Amino acid sequence: MNELHYQVDLLRAINRKQMERERMYLKVCQAAVGAFLYFSFDRGQATTLGQWADYFPFEVKDTRDMEQLLDAVEESCRLQLGDVIYPEKSGQDTAEMECLLQDSRTWMHFRTQVYYDEKGKPSEKVIYIRDITRQHAQKDELVYMAYYDSLTGLYNRNYFVRLLGEYLKRASHTGSIVSVVVINIDEFRKVNDSMGLVVGDELVRQFGSFLKGLCQEDIMACHLHSDVYCMAVYDPAGSKSVSFLHKAIQERIREPFYLEEGKEASITVSMGVAEYPEASDTALELINCAEIVVFKGKAEGAGTLHYFDAPVMDELLQSIELENKLKKAVCNKDFVIHYQPQYYAGNRRLRGVEALIRWKGEGGKLIGPTTFIPVAESNGSIIPIGRWVMEESVRQYAAWKQQFGFPFIMSVNISALQYKRDDFVDSVMEVLNRYQVKPAEIELEITESVLIEDFQSVAAKLRLLREQGVKISLDDFGTGFSSLAYLKRLPVDTLKVDKSFIDTVMTDSSTRVITESIINMVKSLGFEAIAEGVEEEQQYRYLHAIGCDVIQGYLFGQPLPPEELESVFSSQT
Ligand code: C2E
Ligand code: CA
Ligand code: CA
Repeated sequence: MNELHYQVDLLRAINRKQMERERMYLKVCQAAVGAFLYFSFDRGQATTLGQWADYFPFEVKDTRDMEQLLDAVEESCRLQLGDVIYPEKSGQDTAEMECLLQDSRTWMHFRTQVYYDEKGKPSEKVIYIRDITRQHAQKDELVYMAYYDSLTGLYNRNYFVRLLGEYLKRASHTGSIVSVVVINIDEFRKVNDSMGLVVGDELVRQFGSFLKGLCQEDIMACHLHSDVYCMAVYDPAGSKSVSFLHKAIQERIREPFYLEEGKEASITVSMGVAEYPEASDTALELINCAEIVVFKGKAEGAGTLHYFDAPVMDELLQSIELENKLKKAVCNKDFVIHYQPQYYAGNRRLRGVEALIRWKGEGGKLIGPTTFIPVAESNGSIIPIGRWVMEESVRQYAAWKQQFGFPFIMSVNISALQYKRDDFVDSVMEVLNRYQVKPAEIELEITESVLIEDFQSVAAKLRLLREQGVKISLDDFGTGFSSLAYLKRLPVDTLKVDKSFIDTVMTDSSTRVITESIINMVKSLGFEAIAEGVEEEQQYRYLHAIGCDVIQGYLFGQPLPPEELESVFSSQT
């Protein structure tokens, strides 16, 4: 009897242990993220655990039910999933794959483990299924970010360069041409400034999606940056034949783009084309060449199509050569300054001189500033050059003042880049201090473009300089923006009426009307008016009659090297 009791207790204990273990497994399966399918080959029975019910609307109890798993996934994955859930058919013990469910949204990861007995017969298997939709979406997003531009949906620059490299490789085998077209929205800044960045972005997006519509086999597009796009055409019909793109684009932009908040924008675009193999054989260089021509073309007017061809290449090489020579000249200080006198129109007495730089080129030939100042501005060497001009002209002024004993005004041209530097005001004051020159004896010439670009910060610097007594003059007046309202806010003392007005003032009556109204306006604002480029006596008399204060030009004196100017000063004493 005791024996029997003992047996029963033992069984109960075993049973309890068994149930505890089962409960534990069940809990583990439930806690795990995923669904499990346990299958016993001996019994031909299946059990599902974990999140099965969340994943699938059916139960699996035997081999036949397992087939429903295959029906649950997208058709394209079905065949492979058959191998994955029955690895024993090919003697494997594990197999896994990712597949999309019938809803085309949910990604599942399947992993099967088969257990074999000592005779090598499959005894049990476990299929572990996990929902990996989120990981997939993240991966998709990363892939998207790696290849596409999020604003326009076009390829991004990096991926485009890679694909263009493939075009080039293919073209090198077949002897084809590849055209690389850079497209830029003209005066995009104006859209941004007048309508705001959000609307500007919307325009970039809409134009980008229009370009996307032009893509097809062997034509692709990317968003390079801001308002610049690039397209590549594999083997267009011969050289210089992307006019079909030009035409399609021109047709589209005849209509305005309808943007947010009821705003609309009409645009023109400029295009530059570089062709493989003529312009270059690398993707980056081709894009570069096309960019060079698009921006070169812009200088000739908006809405143009230009090709990077032999003349452009020559010009580029020349400008590279010029740039290198200029760098050397900056090191050796191979420059001189000529000074052009300015006279009061009334009594013809000297008002001052304008410092005009020249570059001492090879063999001592002097090169004019219009050739090299733009290059110096684009490569930054205008900063050391400008510093040298400032220093040298102030030094020269101090020497003249001591020699001839009377003050006058030294006018110095200053580039936009110089004004933009934080140390600009200090550097001017430092030079004046060093040579003991009064601020009122110095005048800085500025062009309107500087003010338009960065009005607040440049105006603040000019105010600081004027507070110290430095004169400010607005150069080339009449060629830019020149609105009266904005003139009033300018911290300037003097206005230089551009030579282009003086040139035609005697022959063109409308120029006369404009010139007279400019002079009247200048006077009413209390500024001083200087006419530049006065070459004829008649021009001088007319300008004097309409109230122009100061005359500068070949009529009264060309720019001269310092030693030749001494007679000018002597005649004043
Ligand atoms: P700008 O400031 O308008 O200078 C006047 C230009 O007109 C000078 O040319 C001068 O020689 C020329 N000119 C003066 N009177 C007459 C005339 O009656 N007839 C004709 N045909 N021309 C006349 P330049 O010296 O070749 O200078 C050209 C430009 O280069 C200057 O135009 C100025 O913008 C720039 N520049 C000159 N020196 C410097 C400098 O040191 N720094 C900077 N940033 N720019 C400079
Ligand atoms: Ca000037
Ligand atoms: Ca000028």
